[in-house]
Formats: sequence, structure tokens, C-alpha cells
Amino acid sequence: MRWCLNDRYDPTMSTVGGHDERLAWAAGEISRWFPAAARDLPWRRVRTPWRALVSEFMLQQTQVSRVAERFEPFLTVFPSPKSMAEAGEDAVLAKWSGMGYYRRARLLHAAAVSIVEHHGGVVPEDAATLESLPGVGRYTAGAIASIACGQAAPIVDGNVDRVFARVTGDASIPGAKGREARRWQQAGVFVDAADLPEVANEGLMELGALVCHPKAAQCLICPLAARCCALQAGKVGEIPPPKPRPKKKLIEMQVGVAWRGKKLLLSRRPDTGLFAKTMFPPEIHAFSMADEPRSIGEVRHQTTHRDIRVHVLLVPNGSKAPKAAWKHPDDPELALTSLASKIIALAKRAQEDESGETESS
Ligand code: SF4
Repeated sequence: MRWCLNDRYDPTMSTVGGHDERLAWAAGEISRWFPAAARDLPWRRVRTPWRALVSEFMLQQTQVSRVAERFEPFLTVFPSPKSMAEAGEDAVLAKWSGMGYYRRARLLHAAAVSIVEHHGGVVPEDAATLESLPGVGRYTAGAIASIACGQAAPIVDGNVDRVFARVTGDASIPGAKGREARRWQQAGVFVDAADLPEVANEGLMELGALVCHPKAAQCLICPLAARCCALQAGKVGEIPPPKPRPKKKLIEMQVGVAWRGKKLLLSRRPDTGLFAKTMFPPEIHAFSMADEPRSIGEVRHQTTHRDIRVHVLLVPNGSKAPKAAWKHPDDPELALTSLASKIIALAKRAQEDESGETESS
């Protein structure tokens, strides 16, 4: 591969002098660009390791705009690891309601407990110790250590990967052998060259989010345009190549919805597996066939790795589902998953249709 005008790129080599120099240059350019370009986001207004930890958990699979709305109210309830550890997992799940991927909330609570039990209630500041906390991977540890604590810790996420791939002209397929190790090595060169690691790393993520878009890179306003290999070669749209997508796993469920007035039967899911520990309409086998279930429709739900189909049955006489309780579905303390909410919305429509038919007949 020889199309990069300013130096030679060999994707099989993890360290190339020319690329190291280019990455060090990028650290300076991004550090100058970021202060004026940074979005005003709640977790940036006051910097503490705890706020950084909470924001990183929230941002893992939820849009920035949604997290921006929920962040301060959440921190008001849980201002420290100690307050979260003492409040308990159910309280954290309830406040997490509506943000999806509840496993993150459980891991965040477990991390808070670990911080209290092993670190005196103080969030560790070095990446290696941070990485020992539940739910904290290499990227999250590096983000907290660098952005909240000013340490020269590397970070690699999807945005960083794309920027480095384009700047260095790395056209290898995501997942290719050696690619990830190369990216972490590049991220280390980048942050080591920065005067202020917190500014360079956060600016790098911001550049990936705002300028170096996957499909519409805004190279005309990019501070790295002068030495970007992909831009010089006219291959911005081809780098990085798309990641081969694994086929989603199909999961089929049958649940029963039983009403008593405005309340319906809900039971807690098992401690492990799909939607663990959340409140959910019971699976149909929990009812007796004497309850005369009848189908009212199907709800589809997609996650990153799963295609979930839920067949929903109305159970007019249902009252026997073990470990289930009558709950008002609008109670925010239930912390319903978005799939449970979709099922209940379908059940409400069916109930309304039925009462409308009864009134008109
Ligand atoms: S010049 Fe374009 S492709 Fe290169 S880093 Fe900037 S936005 Fe991305």
C-alpha cells in the first residue's frame, strides 16, 4: 500500500516511525482545536472521576442527547460511590429506567460497591486499577484516567479507531489480525505526545463524533486534513472498511398478560440471562391452560446481537403465575425495559379495543 503521499504505510507493522510522528503531530493539532470546538455537556462542567465513571457507563449504549438529559438528575440521587452502594441495585435500576441495557446499571452498582469495599470509597485514578472494577474495560479505564485525572492513558473506541485508520491510511478490515494491538499502540503514541492528555484524548473522541463521521467526514473543517492519508488518497469513504456483521440470534418468547383492573401481573426475570432481574410479563408456561390464553399479537425487539420476537397472549382468568404480583404498569419504580413497555402497550391497546367492543355491543 503506497498511496499515502507523505509516507509509507505497511499495515503489517505495528510501529512505523512516520506514523508515530504523524500521531504526535495530531495530538498537538487536536489539542489546539478542541477547546473552541467542544460541546457543552453536563459531565464536562464539573470534572470528578466519579462523574466520569457514571457518564462513561451511560454513554456506552445510549445517545449523548439522552444521557445529557438524565445525567444530573441521576448524580443528584447518587452523588458518590458510597451513596450508590448503600442505595442498592434496585434503586439504581429504577433510576436507570428508560436508558436500556440494564446490565450497565447493575455493573455500575457493582463498581460502586467495589470502590467502597476496596478503595475507601474513592474512585481509583490509574487505568490498571480502574480496569479491575466490574464493568470497566480498557477503554473506560483509559477515558477516566486521562480525561478526569490527567494521566497519559490511551483510549480506543469506534471513533478513535476510525480517525486513526484514516489519518494513517490503515485500510485493514476491523477484526483483522494485529489491527487492535496496532490501534492501542497508536493511541499510546498519541497520548504520550500530548502536553495535556485530558484535552488530547477528549478532543480525539470529539473529532470522531463531530467531524470524522463514518459516512460524511467533514474534511474541510478538520484540523488533521493537512496530513490525513485517507484524504490525500481520496479514500475517506473506503476507510475503515465495514466490519463483517455476525448474524443476529433469533430468540422467541411467549408471554401472558393478565389484568386486574388497571394492574397487571409482572414477575422478576431470573438473575442471569435475557433481561435478568427486571420486571416482565410472565412467560406463558407460568399460567394454566385453564386460564384460556388467546393471542393478541407479536412484539419485535432488536438488540446488538439479538432479534427478539415475543408472542403476546391475553390471559383473561390469569391469577396463578407463581412469583408474580399485581403491579400498576406506569409505576416508575418498576424500571421496565423498553421491550416490557412495548408488550404492555400492546396489551393496553387490546384491553381498550375489547372494552370499546363491549360498550358498542
Ligand atoms: S481529514 Fe477527513 S478523513 Fe481525515 S481525519 Fe479529518 S475528517 Fe477524518
